[in-house]
Amino acid sequence: MSRTLLTILAHPDDESFGIGGTLAKYAAEGVDVHICIATDGVAGSVAKGHEQSKSELVAVRRRELDEAVAVLGATLHRLDYRDSGMTGDPGNDHPEAWINSDDDEAIGRIVQLIREIRPNIVITHDETGGYFHPDHIRCWEIVTPAFFAAGNPEQYPEIGPAPFQPARLYYTAFPNTLVKFFVLMMRLRGKDPTKVGRNEDIDLTRLGIPPKKIHARIDYRHYWDVKRAASAAHASQGGGQMGFSQWIPIWIQKRLLAKESFMRAYPPAPDGFRENDLFERV
Ligand SMILES: [Zn+2]
Repeated sequence: MSRTLLTILAHPDDESFGIGGTLAKYAAEGVDVHICIATDGVAGSVAKGHEQSKSELVAVRRRELDEAVAVLGATLHRLDYRDSGMTGDPGNDHPEAWINSDDDEAIGRIVQLIREIRPNIVITHDETGGYFHPDHIRCWEIVTPAFFAAGNPEQYPEIGPAPFQPARLYYTAFPNTLVKFFVLMMRLRGKDPTKVGRNEDIDLTRLGIPPKKIHARIDYRHYWDVKRAASAAHASQGGGQMGFSQWIPIWIQKRLLAKESFMRAYPPAPDGFRENDLFERV
């Protein structure tokens, strides 16, 4: 049976920084991996040394995303909505922003993609967006109904080829054990974990999903370097920079960090359920 995976994520870089290990692993194992990115990345931060790219940021982010997706071995799809900032950002009122998109139109576009690609597995952000980013939460809001509508001949009958119901829907999850580790590392280095990010508006101590809610953990240590290379393609967003991890030996990082976590939304899974392959028994 051919195996196909479609992930719909908010920003150019979420496919690499977020779940790049899982995507690289499945692509290398022969799965047909499709990555759909909703926004153009124009509101994302610009890393030190890349200030010159601000004037043509959309074009720079397009090139970076093309390169990252090629490194991961996947096929790219773009929705090309405008990127937004965190809650309260003045750019969030823009009519072309992903967060202001028309529900029906946005769901229809995902239904079309699912009916064309016919994936077994669909992955998107969870309802917290990982760190409450409005663009991430919008993915959860749109992809969840689209996942079910794609298989229903009465919904969006005019869109795409025949209805198709994927077998599983997963949400990305940032485990709170990992959050606690990052909080500890920041405190050890004298940094404040309650004021993280470009605008210091992310409180790391409020984030994270408890282990019993995490239904799948994908070990990507054999694809560690692929994820690193894909992340490095996003140079204007600081991809490839080491941050605090430069202080930790690679073998310890692989041991502690080379796993990506998911919650299974459909079929629903009970607390404590755990699988280590998204395609298990599909
Ligand atoms: Zn993002």
